[in-house]
Amino acid sequence: MIPLRQNIAEMAGYVPGFQPADAASYIKLNTNENPYPPAPSVLAAIAAEAGEGLRRYPDAASRLAREEAGRLYGFDPSWVIMANGSDEVLNNLIRAFAGEGEEVAYVHPSYSYYGTLTNIQGARVRTFGLTDDFQIAGLPERYQGKLFFLTNPNAPLGFTYSQSFIASLAERIDGMLVVDEAYADFADENSLELVKSHENVVVTRTFSKSYSLAGMRLGLAIARPQVIDALNKIRDHYNLDRLAQAAAAAALKDQEYFRSCVARIRETRERFTAELLRLGFQVIPSSGNYVFATPPGGDGAALYEALYQRRILVRHFTDPLLRHGVRISIGTAEEMAKTVETIAQIVA
Ligand SMILES: *Cc1c(COP(=O)(O)O)cnc(C)c1O
Repeated sequence: MIPLRQNIAEMAGYVPGFQPADAASYIKLNTNENPYPPAPSVLAAIAAEAGEGLRRYPDAASRLAREEAGRLYGFDPSWVIMANGSDEVLNNLIRAFAGEGEEVAYVHPSYSYYGTLTNIQGARVRTFGLTDDFQIAGLPERYQGKLFFLTNPNAPLGFTYSQSFIASLAERIDGMLVVDEAYADFADENSLELVKSHENVVVTRTFSKSYSLAGMRLGLAIARPQVIDALNKIRDHYNLDRLAQAAAAAALKDQEYFRSCVARIRETRERFTAELLRLGFQVIPSSGNYVFATPPGGDGAALYEALYQRRILVRHFTDPLLRHGVRISIGTAEEMAKTVETIAQIVA
């Protein structure tokens, strides 16, 4: 008998999106990666760092990347922490705020990894559902749990909550409100101002989607310095390696390349949505780099399978709330044109 902690023995591990070994032979639209390469300036910064200096430890404070982030978002660097993927900082927020048996909440459906991280900590998961018009169902007048994770834009559905709602939510929560803005770069609004106005609001970002750097594992959080100081106590001291720090600083600096990629993805998203609607799909208007689409007949699994046979990889969730549709990441205009053509053949 291996003497595991009971919560670890009993939990199911998180299952990440499928990463096929021969990814290049698919149109890969299943994990919301960016179809465009990282900025040339980012690749040059990584190459410049990949030398004899790697024998030295990196800067434990990720100072240059934090300064770039602070400049870009309008915060002193003391309000910024860099993370080895935003998943790292989500984990450390739970470790900082929710003790064993204490409560962590999130909306279902959203990013179920919050639940996995909460179970590892030995804290308790509470989920809130959604009404038909995407309001949070059953929210108490005061929420007394330690943390509330709000994915905005929602993943996998793509809708957004208004900033006035998020402000009122922060005011109803005794604990911390973490606004997971993994996809906010593709949306019209974000909650950075709420970090200034509400001391219990934390915003998290990732470089995996909008900055084309899923392979580098980079994220960040913005919060009051007292929160950042606590997170700094918890994280691995060298959480970002030298290549990641160089990539992060260069990516945040090169806003021109970034903006052009985001603009193209938003444009392609709107065109793809219109074409699916024309084919009789139901499509939730999306503020992310993906759409949640329900085919005529509502059999998401069959559509997933038919696309997979034709080497187009999308995401199907078996959850009863999601199995009627599929989540399709937005690729290049060419990839999405091919996808529409293939879907038209499938539904014909
Ligand atoms: C992709 C994603 C993350 C994880 O981002 P990483 O920086 O790759 O760890 C976190 N939250 C949501 C909602 C995501 O979709």
